[in-house]
Amino acid sequence: MRLRRAFSTSVAKVIPIDSELRTRAEARDAADPLRRFREAFHHEPGGPVYLNGNSLGRMPLRAADVLARTQSEWSERLGRGWNEGWMDAPLRLGAKIAGLIGAEPDEVAIAESTSVNLYKLAHAALAIQAPRKKIVSDALNFPSDLYVLEGVARAFGGELEVVPSRDGIRIAPEDVEAAIDKETALLALTHTSFKTSALHDMNRLTAAAHAKGALALWDLSHSVGAVPTDLHGAKADLAVGCSYKYLNGGPGAPAFMFVRRELQEKLVQPIWGWLGHAEPFRFGLEYQPAEGIRRFVSGTPPVISMLAMEPGIDLIAEAGMAAIREKSIDLGSFLIELWEAWLEPLGVGLGSPRDASERGSHVSLTHPEGLAITLALKEANRAILDFRQPDCIRFGLAAVYNSFGDVFEAMKAIREVLETRSFEAFREKRVAVT
Ligand SMILES: *Cc1c(COP(=O)(O)O)cnc(C)c1O
Repeated sequence: MRLRRAFSTSVAKVIPIDSELRTRAEARDAADPLRRFREAFHHEPGGPVYLNGNSLGRMPLRAADVLARTQSEWSERLGRGWNEGWMDAPLRLGAKIAGLIGAEPDEVAIAESTSVNLYKLAHAALAIQAPRKKIVSDALNFPSDLYVLEGVARAFGGELEVVPSRDGIRIAPEDVEAAIDKETALLALTHTSFKTSALHDMNRLTAAAHAKGALALWDLSHSVGAVPTDLHGAKADLAVGCSYKYLNGGPGAPAFMFVRRELQEKLVQPIWGWLGHAEPFRFGLEYQPAEGIRRFVSGTPPVISMLAMEPGIDLIAEAGMAAIREKSIDLGSFLIELWEAWLEPLGVGLGSPRDASERGSHVSLTHPEGLAITLALKEANRAILDFRQPDCIRFGLAAVYNSFGDVFEAMKAIREVLETRSFEAFREKRVAVT
């Protein structure tokens, strides 16, 4: 009797906990108000759990229709296509993105990549801030942003000051405030950190920049489509961001840039291309910048990838940023709960703020074997996550298509990889894109 009881309780200890968590995940999914959006995206039958939408979002099914339509426009309309919607797309789609980030429709344009847009706006900002020539950013910013900012600062004979992180997860706002001084031309920060998911307080830091006479530029790459932002509410001057992450715009989809209306006529961006000219088709020999946001555009828009972005933007707008944020927080809290129950005892750390109000829409877990673990999960066709040096495994939570069941399955898979040590076979493996 005694033995049997002891035996059945020890079994009961493991299985009901997992199944209870699974049942909870299923109940959350059944009650999810965004549930129908999952079916708007392509899912490979029997494919792995995809928690990588912070790097490249899933493909909206409607994007395939847009690509097919664009292909026939290309083949049948050819050059007539420019006047039949192609040339207007950068501002038309920019206006749609404006609605997601707290901007006015005539304050956002789509062009180039985030890095190039950052260069153009930072350069334009330094040009009107002379003799100030210092840029302030932080050590958790995306390295491409830091490279671009340093290049711009040096081109003006200035320097980039990088505010360090005290805990490796966040940047203390008071440290940013202390770095902004009378020499500072521009404060350029990324709202949600690509690695740790830590959020900056946009209102507070924009106000701190303005108080010292600096302009404030925000990179929204990991926020747009995931974390509500109110650029006007914060009085932000400039912003840039990606469209292929939580906006699901597709690989290499062009980026966006925001310039507050009152600044548009004052700023002159450095790449004086014909499509930012007041009258591109007059082909005059003198550069005359266009009025409004169009002056920040340089060359011909990448029509195919730009049009393919639209369904992703529309789906995010239909779902609504408030509902997206609410679900994203719930997914993240569930993930952290599973981490605590299953993975913390196995030596996995939490590399993101625990408090949801300080976190964007991904959660990072840390482990010294992080790369081998993500490769083992991919190879076993269990979960697609990504890895950022030195030890950071990122779980991107895209509220429009990820479920609580996805979180459960991915966390269960990583637990099994750790328990069976199947990651050991991947220690020596090298991949170009992690
Ligand atoms: C993803 C990302 C980029 C990407 O820049 P591209 O020039 O579009 O490749 C830039 N900045 C941040 C903060 C990002 O997260």
